Amino acid sequence: MIKPQTIAIPIFALLIAIEAYYVIKENRENFDRKDTWTNILIGFVSVGFGAIFAYFTSQAYLWANSVTPIQMPMNVWWSWVLLMFIDDFAYYWFHRCSHEIRFLWNFHVVHHSSNQYNLSVAVRQSWFSGFSHWIFYVPVAFLGFPFWAFVTMHGLNLIYQFWIHTKFIGKLGWLEYVFNTPSHHRVHHGVNAQYLDKNYAGIFIIWDRLFGTFEEEKEEVKYGITTPINSYNPLWINTHAWFEMYDKMSQKKTILGKLRCIFASPNMDFEEKSNLKLKPEN
Ligand SMILES: [Zn+2]
Ligand SMILES: [Zn+2]
Repeated sequence: MIKPQTIAIPIFALLIAIEAYYVIKENRENFDRKDTWTNILIGFVSVGFGAIFAYFTSQAYLWANSVTPIQMPMNVWWSWVLLMFIDDFAYYWFHRCSHEIRFLWNFHVVHHSSNQYNLSVAVRQSWFSGFSHWIFYVPVAFLGFPFWAFVTMHGLNLIYQFWIHTKFIGKLGWLEYVFNTPSHHRVHHGVNAQYLDKNYAGIFIIWDRLFGTFEEEKEEVKYGITTPINSYNPLWINTHAWFEMYDKMSQKKTILGKLRCIFASPNMDFEEKSNLKLKPEN
């Protein structure tokens, strides 16, 4: 089955090129060509890995689909609307867990480690996130949505998330209340203290507003990750976080301490340091 996001690749390529042309022409910032090509290369390889993982995800999905007593009719409009919200809700939790649980962050960090913010960052996706991805979407299969309908809707969700990776679009009025927009997603890519672990939305920002993870773009965003990777090596970009996690684990003396390095937030050390500062000095 051809995924909608695969069909969109030529359009993505064209839009990345147009945006890059304007950034360079208007001399808006130091455009990092090497970073942009790295993003595109990582994107292409991730499509290949994605196809391999998709096989296993599809098997899990089809199994859940075959045992569930519920079957959703896909010839009525409301079923598609329901699927759009359910798929987006699943994405919110997949994305939130990918930030707040360290071993899942080890995959997702790839998308955040660029020091720029432009459309090419949208295609800078982890090669190996397919390991965990399926866990969050098998429930959609249990709800009785057929596989082909899920693949279509999920593809459209990912296509939606492309255009929000730009600095060229400002705030969009009332749309900011309901939809994930370039402004909301810039916040998500920020390392400013107030922007960390915020705006996990896919299409609808309502999930962040409901679950207390919403933050509005006020201060200018500083992009990247708290410890910059300073590398253009796609393999290192996809694997460095595992080595950092191993280092952290080796420093911990207790089993509990080691387990926290795997399952707690990657910002745990950051939080520990801030707590120390809060203690009265004597
Ligand atoms: Zn993210
Ligand atoms: Zn993003």
